[in-house]
Amino acid sequence: MIPRHLYVHVPFCARRCIYCDFSIAVRRTVPIDEFLDALVLELEHRSEHGSANSSPLETVYFGGGTPSRLGGEGVARMVAIVNQFHSIAAAPEITLEANPDDVSAQNAERWATAGINRISLGVQTFDDSTLAWMHRTHSAAQARAAVAIARCAGIQNISVDLIFALPGGLNRSWRDDLDEALALEPDHISLYGLTIERGTPLARLTASGASALAGEDTYAEEFLLAHATAVAAGFEHYEVSNFARTGRRSRHNSAYWAGAQYLGIGPSAHSFDGERRSWNVSPYAEWVSRLAGGSSPEEGGETLSVSNRSAESIYLGLRTAKGYRAEAADLDVARSWAGAGWAAIDDETVRLTPEGWLRLDSLAAGLTGF
Ligand code: SF4
Repeated sequence: MIPRHLYVHVPFCARRCIYCDFSIAVRRTVPIDEFLDALVLELEHRSEHGSANSSPLETVYFGGGTPSRLGGEGVARMVAIVNQFHSIAAAPEITLEANPDDVSAQNAERWATAGINRISLGVQTFDDSTLAWMHRTHSAAQARAAVAIARCAGIQNISVDLIFALPGGLNRSWRDDLDEALALEPDHISLYGLTIERGTPLARLTASGASALAGEDTYAEEFLLAHATAVAAGFEHYEVSNFARTGRRSRHNSAYWAGAQYLGIGPSAHSFDGERRSWNVSPYAEWVSRLAGGSSPEEGGETLSVSNRSAESIYLGLRTAKGYRAEAADLDVARSWAGAGWAAIDDETVRLTPEGWLRLDSLAAGLTGF
């Protein structure tokens, strides 16, 4: 495996957000040393087994969880550990996911000197009562301040995450959230349409009737409003859930969507070597104890068949503005999409429109590769 893209999963969160089913470890105090020691053991293990041998990394993505909870020094040490095992290409993209309440001037300056050059900020909404409903740990004012602090520290490439299709009874306006986000002049915006995941606090609330998700019409209206608003503000809608200013697409996520090889370390992290996808154990304690005991943290893997890979490349292509080059049989199907306003066809390349992205899964399922 010659990965040029590294994902590091940092599982710690102060508490679980209402909608979140990610692999996280809720900790009041983050066991920074224990986590970083285990990270070293995983990189050593992967070096010995040939899956972390270096070609220069073009992108590194510290995701979670909440990697910013490692603080200034913790993140700097994590970056140094990556540098111990991998060389880094010229002009890399090194992203840190951060929650606004962790973005102090001191932390941001340390992150910048350590090499972090992109922040993905979990803003979600600018309505404080909705942030409280979500169990977020920060306020809208902290989100606004975090953007200014990061820029002041020299981290210029900033993405903000927003959530749409929230339950109707909440005191928030999607239009206001979009306007507030754009007023911060981010380089990139990622959207998440709220869904109910099993086992989350939101699943329990909806099951009890205390909350109800927005309907399909609201979901579609808000998605299309985001498209129109961001494009009018100069963003490119380059993937179903992502918008970027020119030159500011997420290089790391774009590598996933292009089917590139990547290495993932940390609990629950996935890796892909071009043919086989593998994943680590999810529980933090098990990940630590396996590594401490000299065992592999890998829990499972699957080698993708030719048909799996074909289906995946169609799906990934349809997610992006790049589209996918269709076989003759699929072109007939795609022409019917174009007639409905769901796709555009240029030569043999099929690109979904925003209306088409609303139907991404069902359209992809109708193609021959699936
Ligand atoms: S901060 Fe992110 S990872 Fe942590 S609980 Fe909230 S949504 Fe999940």
